[in-house]
Amino acid sequence: MIAEILCVGTELLMGQVLNTNAYFLSRRLSALGVSQYHQTVVGDNADRLEEAYRLALSRADVVVTSGGLGPTVDDITKRVAAKIAGKELVRNPEAEEMLRARFARFNRPMTPNNLSQTMFTPDATLLPNPHGTAPGAIVPMGGGKVVIHLPGPPAELQPMWIDHAEPWLRARSGKTLVSRYIRIFGMGESEVDQCLSDLETGSNPSLSPYCSPGEVLLRATACADTTEAAEALLLPLLEEVRTRLGDVIYAVEENDAGSLARCAVEALKRRGWTIATAESLTGGLMASSMVEIPGASCVVKGGFVTYQTESKTLLTGVPAELIDRHGVVSAEVARAMAEGARERLGTDVAISATGLAGPDGGTPETPVGTVFVGLATAEATRVLPLRLTGDRTRIRTLTMKHAMYAVLKEAERN
Ligand code: AMP
Ligand code: MG
Repeated sequence: MIAEILCVGTELLMGQVLNTNAYFLSRRLSALGVSQYHQTVVGDNADRLEEAYRLALSRADVVVTSGGLGPTVDDITKRVAAKIAGKELVRNPEAEEMLRARFARFNRPMTPNNLSQTMFTPDATLLPNPHGTAPGAIVPMGGGKVVIHLPGPPAELQPMWIDHAEPWLRARSGKTLVSRYIRIFGMGESEVDQCLSDLETGSNPSLSPYCSPGEVLLRATACADTTEAAEALLLPLLEEVRTRLGDVIYAVEENDAGSLARCAVEALKRRGWTIATAESLTGGLMASSMVEIPGASCVVKGGFVTYQTESKTLLTGVPAELIDRHGVVSAEVARAMAEGARERLGTDVAISATGLAGPDGGTPETPVGTVFVGLATAEATRVLPLRLTGDRTRIRTLTMKHAMYAVLKEAERN
């Protein structure tokens, strides 16, 4: 099955709105195993939209549209598709019922222009929209091809796609796709690639790498008639990747929502441990990335943003004399920050970071990117010296990731 995404809206062409729908849909489609060879953005113009539809329908089985379902005059997505199919748009009683119920629920009067959102070709299958007024639809276009209409607002499009369009597509393709996401920290993309290049040429199962600062994510995907058969195809590939990469793999998961912070929080939770933070250059990033994870409240007790030198003494009790002696960016200060945070909040673990994020302030002895991460537990305190590269954002992000990795490994240690 070949799909093509067609996003409609002049605001997208003008750069006023970022095309996150294309991003979302293309990721979901490829996870479903549906091929895509082209993508189009077209403004709210009937002639150019018609041209775009005809081209997309000439080369894809499914054309997925986003936007232009609203009640205003520039919302032409359905009308132009109907014209190409040679059909009329007629009032759909089911859509009208949904719309009236929605207006009644919010106690708002329904203006006549809203009724345009209830107009569909007679053979359209409606896709309910609990988050907005415009229902979506699956519309036959002849020759076994279909157009799937989705509303523009991402908060409406995404649940409609997941709850209604994907089940329809899955039932139609008759195949099951199973993926596993292998998360790697501490090995660069090219090195990962070198280890696995022969495995990355396979098509079923397939293995593809994606990278982000400090991390590589591998997606292993297999397609078969049943979930069990797809999983059986994946198993030897996953084993081989594990054998070749070993310890740098920190998680193998069924979806790609994972992160170092999520794994760290979950590992702490499993261990029944609480954590405190003392953050200089990350300014709360470590605490924030953990708090982002639902359920973090039983793990993250609190933290200190000890940004200026004085705050390291005031908030985490680092002796001023220690700072004078070793410098504020030093292993000794990272250690004292972690121990101070752990003691003050009474947690099982504390994590700290002090370093130079730049761009200014570097010296030959302490260049930009010099970072010390401290990890204190009841048993001992360890300090991880780092030499990071990149701009300020990258250095801060990498510091947070190294810290989360250290927490994860500590929580998983026997
Ligand atoms: P529409 O359904 O065309 O009226 O679009 C409604 C709103 O949805 C637009 O004003 C945008 O804010 C948003 N929107 C439309 N298309 C996209 C897209 N491709 N990606 C992200 N947001 C979009
Ligand atoms: Mg629009």
